[in-house]
Amino acid sequence: MQYHHPMFCPECGAHEFTAVANETFPLGAGGSIGGLSGWRCTACGEVDLDAASHTRYAQASDTAVLAARQADQKLLARVRKKLGLTQRQAAQITGGGHNAFSRYERGQVQPMPAVVNLFKILDKHPELLAELR
Ligand SMILES: [Zn+2]
Repeated sequence: MQYHHPMFCPECGAHEFTAVANETFPLGAGGSIGGLSGWRCTACGEVDLDAASHTRYAQASDTAVLAARQADQKLLARVRKKLGLTQRQAAQITGGGHNAFSRYERGQVQPMPAVVNLFKILDKHPELLAELR
């Protein structure tokens, strides 16, 4: 395994590193990935993954982002139907134009977190829909 070992930390400019071996790191979109290796700056803690680990981390990140988006699409469609709303009615509540929900549910447009969060609340407390109409 070839390690790319930078002469200076890209974050802080220090140049002492310890090996990172078989560590687990969180993914931005949720979850984590294990078995990563590379180098950690002893001054600031910044981790520079080796090439193979960097590739695995990037692929896992992409997969997690896609899974999170698909989960949002399914959640919006499921809760909308549970509430008895048409796509147009749901869009009237959340804004974004009359086709917004059609686009969200087909994955053409990523909904704002506020839209997803509102539907998570309405999923648990559907009676609150009456407050919005
Ligand atoms: Zn550093």
